[in-house]
Amino acid sequence: ATPTAVTVGVGRAAEFGILIKNGDTLENAGQIDVAAFDKTGTITEGKPEVDDVIAYGISEEELITLAASVEQNSNHPIAKAIVRKAEGLELLNTVDFENVTGKGIKAVIDGRTVLAGNKSLMESNDVEISDDILDTFNNLENQSKTIILLAVDEHVRGILSLSDKVKQNSKRTIEELHKMGVETYMLTGDNESTALSVAEEVGIDNVKAGILPENKLDIVKDIQSNGSKKVLFTGDGINDAPALTQADIGVAMGNGTDIAMESGDVVVMEGDLENVVAAVQFSKKVMRRIK
Ligand code: ADP
Ligand code: MG
Repeated sequence: ATPTAVTVGVGRAAEFGILIKNGDTLENAGQIDVAAFDKTGTITEGKPEVDDVIAYGISEEELITLAASVEQNSNHPIAKAIVRKAEGLELLNTVDFENVTGKGIKAVIDGRTVLAGNKSLMESNDVEISDDILDTFNNLENQSKTIILLAVDEHVRGILSLSDKVKQNSKRTIEELHKMGVETYMLTGDNESTALSVAEEVGIDNVKAGILPENKLDIVKDIQSNGSKKVLFTGDGINDAPALTQADIGVAMGNGTDIAMESGDVVVMEGDLENVVAAVQFSKKVMRRIK
């Protein structure tokens, strides 16, 4: 492609709120075979709300207070939702805060170790989950909610469930990509039943759930080497930076974290998912004109 045509294309895209960092990106975007998406904040709004609050051996208020006290140290969308739920309650002081990527968080309150996170966080900290609690847990998971367990000194003290709405444009975006012959994937750290239900709602073909952030990168690599496919990955979180960098085209949602925006080749302002399709269409159009 001629440099001028590409420059003009990049400029035109910017008018639509699509920032393309270099000309090569624009040339490649029209040739992608696979579009992979992070779930939270990309396919969904990323503004979950707490639904169920189930306490074991403590009051609901104590449960919310403990959970929000540890979560106040995190800016994960789950953490923000739990802190909002605790509005009006006095939060406790935490020390030795630790963010366990893709699993949850850990902190010490009054000498007691408090964990808030998924099953895998409980397992890696030797917290046993009784059959009774497991039943409740499984039941909520089948309603496609994100479930957070809270444990104090190795005992489960509660379950919080959260649900997150799918973005208005997600379904249309996936349909448009399919029309262009692009295969779709969802890669998420969330549990499988939630992931499958969201994927079904928007029409995504392939789902990889319960994966750690570093594995998002491996999955992108796998798809690329499998039949030498060109992969576009769209994400918004701090966790997504490695996958954004690995992808042939990394698309960062403009309402995401700074690190995601730095890692992306394309930044879509205001997080409008349909701009992912627009970026691909732009590329095709510019390339057609140049040839
Ligand atoms: P996603 O791939 O949807 O962006 P993440 O990798 O950020 O998800 O998180 C994966 C899972 O780890 C969450 O669904 C949740 O179970 C757990 N988790 C992550 N951060 C937190 C947190 N601050 N508090 C509780 N659980 C968390
Ligand atoms: Mg995310």
